[in-house]
Amino acid sequence: MELSGPIRILLVEDSRDHAVFFKAALGKAFKPAHHVRVVDSLSSSFEELSVTPYDLIVLDLGLPESQGLETVETFFRVLGPSNPVIVLTANTDEEIGEQSLRRGAIDFLTKGEFGADQLARAVRYGLERWRQRLELEEAQRNLKSFAHVAAHDLKSPVKSIGMYASLLMQKAKARDAEAEELEFIGYIESFTDQAERLVDSLLNFSVLGDKSVTLAAVDLAALAQQAVSNLSALVEEKGASIEIEALPQAQADEGLLIHVLQNLVANAIKYHGDAPPSIRISSAEAKGEIVIAVADNGRGIDARYFERIFEPFKRLVGPTQPEGVGLGLAICQRVVAAHGGKIWVESELGLGSTFKFSLPMAKEDTESSCELQEASSPSLHP
Ligand code: ADP
Repeated sequence: MELSGPIRILLVEDSRDHAVFFKAALGKAFKPAHHVRVVDSLSSSFEELSVTPYDLIVLDLGLPESQGLETVETFFRVLGPSNPVIVLTANTDEEIGEQSLRRGAIDFLTKGEFGADQLARAVRYGLERWRQRLELEEAQRNLKSFAHVAAHDLKSPVKSIGMYASLLMQKAKARDAEAEELEFIGYIESFTDQAERLVDSLLNFSVLGDKSVTLAAVDLAALAQQAVSNLSALVEEKGASIEIEALPQAQADEGLLIHVLQNLVANAIKYHGDAPPSIRISSAEAKGEIVIAVADNGRGIDARYFERIFEPFKRLVGPTQPEGVGLGLAICQRVVAAHGGKIWVESELGLGSTFKFSLPMAKEDTESSCELQEASSPSLHP
C-alpha cells in the first residue's frame, strides 16, 4: 500500500474529551502529515467508510450502541476484514485487547495508559503491519494464479506423454520386446500417471481458492454413499469394507463435501495396515454442530504429525508408496474452513486413524453463500 497525501485516520469515539486528547497526542508525536476525522458511533463509522476510504481506523470499544468485544465483532461482521483497526479499550484487562486481535484488529491501546509516543508508535507500526499484510496477500494471490497457469499448461503435454507411452507399450508387447524394454516403458507410464495426479491436484487446489461455497441442507448419508461409490474400483482392488452409519442433514456445499468425504475414505483405504481396510463413517452432534468421523484400521499416524499432514505437500511416506502428492488433506481443510468448521485427526500408530470434521447443522429452507477462506498459508517445504 503506497500512502500518498496525508494519512487518513478515522477515530470512532463518543467521548469528546478523549477525541481531543487523541488528536493532540497524535499531533505531538506522529510527524507524517495526517488527518483525523472523528465519528461518535458505529453506525456513523459505517456511513463514513461507505463513502470515504481511510488508511487506519481507531475504534473505541465502549460506544453508545455496543460495548467491548461486541463492538469489534459488529465492525468486522459488517465491513469484513478490509480495514486496519486499532482498538481502544477502557478495560485494563489485557484479555479484551488480545481477543480483539483474534477477531481481526491489528493492535490495541488501553485508555489512560498510553501517551503521545506510544500512540504514535502504535499508529506507525499498525500502518506498516497492514502494508505487509496486503503485500503478503498479493504474493499469495500471485502464487496461486501461477500454480493454476502452470498446472493448466502442463496438463495437456503430460496427458500426451501418457498416451504415447501406452501406444509404445502396446507396440512393444505386440513384437515380443525384451523384458527390460517393457519395464522401462512401464516406468514412463507410471511416472506420467504420477505427474497427471499432481497436475490435477494442483489445479483443484488453486481453483478452490477462488470458489465460493453455496450452503444448503444436504443429506450426509447420501453424500457418503456417493463418495464411496466414486471409489468403487479402489474399494474392490483393496478388498475394503465400508460401513456408513445413520447420518443427519448438514448445512454444506454438496459438491465440495463429496470431495472431502472421498478424500478421507480414499486415504483410509490407501494407508491401510496388515489387515484389509475396514472403515466406518459416523457422526455425533454437539453445540449446534455435527462432527463427522471417518475411522479406519490402517497404519495410523504419529501424534507429532497430527497438524502437519494438513499442510500442502506434506506426506509421511516416500514418493512412490502409496500414490499421492500431499494435497488431499490441505484441500479438505480449506473446504471445511470455508464451511466455518474444523478438521483434525485422532490416531494411534499401528492401530488406525479417525479423521473428524465439524459442520453447521442444517437450517430449514436456507441457501446462502460465502467466500472460501484461506485455511492456512500454503507451504512448499517437504
Ligand atoms: P496424499 O495422500 O496425496 O499423500 P494427503 O494430504 O491426503 O496427501 O495426506 C497427507 C499424508 O497424511 C499422507 O501422505 C499420509 O502420510 C497421511 N495420511 C493421510 N490419511 C491417512 C490415514 N487414513 N492413515 C494414515 N496416514 C494418513
